[in-house]
Amino acid sequence: MIQNNYPLKNITTIGLGGTCKEFICPSSIDDLLKINKSHKHMYIGNGSNICFITDYYDGTIISLKRMKRFITHDTNFIYCSSNISCNKASRYLYKNKISGFEFLYGIPGSMGGAIFMNAGAFNDELLQHVHSIELVNNKGKIYEMKNKDLNYSYRTSNIDKNSSIISVTLYNQVKEFNKNLLSKLNIIRKNTQPINQLSCGCIFKNPKDDYAAKLIEGAELKGMRVGGIYISRKHSNYFINDGSGTYNEFLQLMKIVKKRVFSKYNIHLQEEVILVK
Ligand SMILES: Cc1cc2nc3c(=O)[nH]c(=O)nc-3n(C[C@H](O)[C@H](O)[C@H](O)COP(=O)(O)OP(=O)(O)OC[C@H]3O[C@@H](n4cnc5c(N)ncnc54)[C@H](O)[C@@H]3O)c2cc1C
Repeated sequence: MIQNNYPLKNITTIGLGGTCKEFICPSSIDDLLKINKSHKHMYIGNGSNICFITDYYDGTIISLKRMKRFITHDTNFIYCSSNISCNKASRYLYKNKISGFEFLYGIPGSMGGAIFMNAGAFNDELLQHVHSIELVNNKGKIYEMKNKDLNYSYRTSNIDKNSSIISVTLYNQVKEFNKNLLSKLNIIRKNTQPINQLSCGCIFKNPKDDYAAKLIEGAELKGMRVGGIYISRKHSNYFINDGSGTYNEFLQLMKIVKKRVFSKYNIHLQEEVILVK
C-alpha cells in the first residue's frame, strides 16, 4: 500500500514534521523485496525514537506493520518477526515463564526498532540476548547477521541503516522465572517516565558514568519550554510536545540544553533520538 504526501506526525510518537513523498506498508516479504530502494528511503518501526525535522521528507518511508507478525519459542531460542511490539514480545515470554526480557515491557517500540537501537532499560540491553537477525538489503537480498557480527555497544551497532530487519532469533536463557518482576518494573517505569504523552524517549545519550537527565536538571532546565515543546518535570531527558509544538521549537530546545549543560559541566551531550530530514 503506497500513500503519497503522508503526514509524518502520524508515524512518530512525538508527532512532529510535515509530510513525506511516499509511505509504503508492504504486506509480505515479496512486496518488501519489490520496493525500489535506489532512491532516498528509510525504515520505520513504531516511530518512538525518531523526530522528523523537516516540512517534506523527499523519499520513501517503509513500515513493516502490515506484514505477518509472529513469536514462538523452543527450549533454546525465541523466534519473532521484527514488527511485533516490545510489549507483546515481553508479555508472550512472561506468560510462557521465560525470564530475562521483562526490561522490554513499556518500551513503546517494535522489536526491529529495539534491535536497531540496541534498546535497553534496568541495566539490560537487547542485543546481548540476540542470537541472529535476518535482514533485507537495498538490493533486495536477504541476509543474516549473527551476534558476533553486530559489534554493539550503548544504543549503537553496525547494522546497516539501509537494510530492513525482518526477523530476530533470541537466546532462550535458562534464568529463574520471577513472577513479580514484570509488574515491579512496570511500576518503576510509570513512576519515573512520562508515558501517554507525545515524546520520543530520551533525547540525549547518557555520558559515560553519568546521566543526561541529572545534568539537565543540574543546569536548572527542568520544565523549560520553547513554544509547544517542554522538558518533562518527571524525567528531564524527555521533551514533550503539548500538541502545538513544531520541530523548530524542538531543535531550539535541544540547542539550549546542549549549550547550558556544556557551559555548566563542560560535557557535550550526544543525541539518542534520531533526527531525520
Ligand atoms: C515513553 C517512551 C519510553 C521509552 N523508553 C525507552 C527505554 O526504556 N529504553 C530504550 O532503549 N528506549 C526507550 N524509548 C525509545 C524507543 O521506544 C526505543 O528506541 C525503541 O526501541 C524504538 O523502536 P521503534 O520501533 O519505535 O523504532 P523507530 O523509532 O521507528 O526507529 C528507530 C530506528 O530504528 C530503525 N528501524 C526501525 N525498525 C526497523 C527495521 N525493521 N529494520 C531496520 N531498521 C529499523 C529506524 O530506521 C530508526 O533508525 C522510549 C520511548 C518513549 C516514547
